[in-house]
Amino acid sequence: MNDAAPSSPASDGKRRVTGQGIQTRGEAHGHHRDVSGGWLRPAVFGAMDGLVTNVSLIAGVGGAGVHATAIVVTGLAGLAAGAFSMATGEFVSVSSQNELIAAEVSREQHELEHHPEAERRELAAVFRRSGVDAELADRVARQVSNRPEAALRMHVREELGVDHLELPSPYVAAGASLLTFAVGALIPLLPFLIGFSSLTATLVMAGVFAFVGGGMVSRVTNRPFWFGALRQLVLAAGAAGLTYAIGTAVGASIH
Ligand SMILES: [Zn+2]
Repeated sequence: MNDAAPSSPASDGKRRVTGQGIQTRGEAHGHHRDVSGGWLRPAVFGAMDGLVTNVSLIAGVGGAGVHATAIVVTGLAGLAAGAFSMATGEFVSVSSQNELIAAEVSREQHELEHHPEAERRELAAVFRRSGVDAELADRVARQVSNRPEAALRMHVREELGVDHLELPSPYVAAGASLLTFAVGALIPLLPFLIGFSSLTATLVMAGVFAFVGGGMVSRVTNRPFWFGALRQLVLAAGAAGLTYAIGTAVGASIH
């Protein structure tokens, strides 16, 4: 990224940090759809995760022919296990992503302090690539470089593609995953919890919610409703069908 000092470790331009935990915030560009899908997309994904996991689990034990009480216990255990697993996974994922960014930011800070000239030329090159005249690019880079905080933020944005002052919170990510998974996992359990102990009722209920949830994701991505709805329904049915088959086979062999 820096034509003046190609051997500088900060100039290799390969430190782009990407990942699901990172979302560039778009409040300043009100006319754009939030490309990360905002909260709706992860919320629906989390809920669909819980739904598919638990309807498959319930179909599995249901297929094995266990009693309704055992199905409820299994479903509740699946809900808790999945929600905690998702939360810890998300927490570690976002935390380590932030730690990686923090390490890269301090590396960039070090570069700015020890090689200010090279870093200033790097910034000027960024402006030039955006079509700014060389002389003006140099002047702007000089002015930005006079403000260490702004300069660091700009370097990080350019080189890592993130805003290190607006990183996602691992606690919020973990809490959201836990909650959305639990909501989704609760759906296939509802018929049993209200005393309507029927595997068919659970499958129908889960199917309806999978259809609606899949459709909602499509609305975010501008695909037709039926596309996402059918895709989610087919995948959920496939997962539940497979575990049901396994459950039936295991049940037949132990009864
Ligand atoms: Zn830099």
